[in-house]
Amino acid sequence: MSTDAIKLLKGRYCNSLTEYSRFVTREVAIGDVPMGGSNPIRIQSMTTTDTMDTIGTVEQSIRMIEAGCEYIRITAPSIKEAQNLAEIKKQLRQRGYTAPLVADIHFTPNAAEVAARIVEKVRVNPGNYADKKKFDQIDYTDAEYQGELERINQKFAPLVKICKEYGTAMRIGTNHGSLSDRIMSRYGDTPQGMVESAMEFMRMCEAMNYYSLVVSMKSSNPQVMVQAYRLLVETMVAEGMNYPLHLGVTEAGDGEDGRIKSAVGIGTLLEDGLGDTVRVSLTEEPEAEAPVAIALVERYVKRSQESRIKNQDSKPGLDTQHTSYNIQHNPYEYKKRETYEANAFIGGHMVPRVVLDLSKKNLKDPAILNDAGYLYSPILDKYNMAEQSVDFVYLADELPSFSFPGNLKQLYNYNTWLNLTDKINCHPVFSLQEYIGDVDRSSALNLVKLLPADIETEEFGLLPLDKSLVFILETQAIHGMADQRSFFFKMEELGLDVPVIIKRSYDFELDIDHTTHHTQLTTNLQLYAATDIGALLVDGFGDGIWIDAPQVPANIITSTAFGILQATRSRISKTEYISCPSCGRTLFDLMETTQMIRSRTSHLKGLKIGIMGCIVNGPGEMADADYGYVGSGPGKVTLYRGKEAVKKNITSLNALDELIGIIREDGNWIEIE
Ligand code: SF4
Repeated sequence: MSTDAIKLLKGRYCNSLTEYSRFVTREVAIGDVPMGGSNPIRIQSMTTTDTMDTIGTVEQSIRMIEAGCEYIRITAPSIKEAQNLAEIKKQLRQRGYTAPLVADIHFTPNAAEVAARIVEKVRVNPGNYADKKKFDQIDYTDAEYQGELERINQKFAPLVKICKEYGTAMRIGTNHGSLSDRIMSRYGDTPQGMVESAMEFMRMCEAMNYYSLVVSMKSSNPQVMVQAYRLLVETMVAEGMNYPLHLGVTEAGDGEDGRIKSAVGIGTLLEDGLGDTVRVSLTEEPEAEAPVAIALVERYVKRSQESRIKNQDSKPGLDTQHTSYNIQHNPYEYKKRETYEANAFIGGHMVPRVVLDLSKKNLKDPAILNDAGYLYSPILDKYNMAEQSVDFVYLADELPSFSFPGNLKQLYNYNTWLNLTDKINCHPVFSLQEYIGDVDRSSALNLVKLLPADIETEEFGLLPLDKSLVFILETQAIHGMADQRSFFFKMEELGLDVPVIIKRSYDFELDIDHTTHHTQLTTNLQLYAATDIGALLVDGFGDGIWIDAPQVPANIITSTAFGILQATRSRISKTEYISCPSCGRTLFDLMETTQMIRSRTSHLKGLKIGIMGCIVNGPGEMADADYGYVGSGPGKVTLYRGKEAVKKNITSLNALDELIGIIREDGNWIEIE
């Protein structure tokens, strides 16, 4: 994209960068559950059963509806599955379930044309509806490109006609991993390519006066996904469109990783008022997805009451007040904010640092540091560093009665630090007022706690700036991410390159129901912190993170912090699994297989392994995985090195050994000690 285009686009993807304001989209009827406009943000998910298994699919759909799904998506890989949607729909309606059904289509226009007469919505992937994907790089002339578009239009128009006739809605669902060769040749594997891929189809629909559209821009990389949705909104508005947005991160994985990755992508967009429906893709039972999506979305129900929704007339367009700052920040490209390196502790080119509060823990027991990633051996009286070991612990005014490992730095409140006899590895935390006074500062590292509004105060102007200074940025605002982001924008305006640790505090209410309490607390912490802090990290803001949640065990806070850094790709501390959520095409038990692969490869820090249920979509959807384990037939697996299939159709019985062999050949294998 040209620099001029970026300047034009800069910062204009949402109503407001400072207030919560939902971008109001066109209302689209989907059965009797409309989406967009002022409707609530809808929750949905997809079945994993074989679509020909009517009872299995009906029963799974019911479990999903009861868990909170408002739409149910079912794969229709060929005409016979598309036809069976009628039977599934009939049985669901007979049992009293009216949730609209969505047919998921890849590669098969004929199945789409059948399904569109039966279900309330069809999803098409513009990368493979009428296009091919062979990882070919073809140079198209403008005339050839136009010719291809006309060819696609001919294949696509019959579906649009059927949808118009039957009142069926359509999602144009672009996936980063399955862009067509045509799009790739012109735009590359970029957010712009993703946007253009959908826009081509949307323009064809509008040319036929068909407007019942929903759009998505999914990727397994939350950074790419966020940029693509932002660019989509900007592009739609420029062309007078405001279709509802379906948000999702593909192949997010399972457990903590899946929740954090999803929240970074989906939450970041929800914070800026974007999104009309959410699907969280986890490699778990589909009914496990809705509660996660609900927890993500619920935060904004309250927020929107507090910050009135604008643009009620639902006209396309952004309320550009508060939308742009006089800054160089480009929301469509990642660029880490430039900061100085504070005496080799934090900032500059260093990975973001992690701070953990241990001030309320038993500081007489060295084993307490296990929670911070320093594994204490009482026999050897030694610490071993785990892959996820924090960089700083905050001890406030509490003094430990054991010695700390040399590479773990301790933070104390200023007055306590001042009175320490041994200050090696110990650093002071000041308030702004303390720091501007006549005080003894550390020659190495001084941390100053701030709220975003402090930057406007006279005291801030009195701060002595030298390279020992680091800010700890807190917030008390309900719309805290935007509050903290405004501080980064102001710092940019003022040309200040002080490193910043983003601190968020969560005071969860204690629940009486202890059985679900622990899991719920953990999940909420993962989702909220990944949204609030992840949304800043995906834009390159933040040199460190500090999550404060007194009710959550410290080891969970540590793994959440590292999980957020991994999901935002700002600090890699573990293997990344890009595993699909599975669907009716899946050729093996994804959950079991993912666990099996994880059990032998989880020590391969930094490696990305794709685990995909089918060869039809799997290789494309693995995006930038280093290796792929893809189902290619019953009991058969094809192994990939990047995008190249290196072992085809081998038996699943020794496929994992073979995969490890390939990793070993490449010199990427590490023996476990
Ligand atoms: S990659 Fe997984 S979720 Fe996607 S179509 Fe194949 S089996 Fe289904």
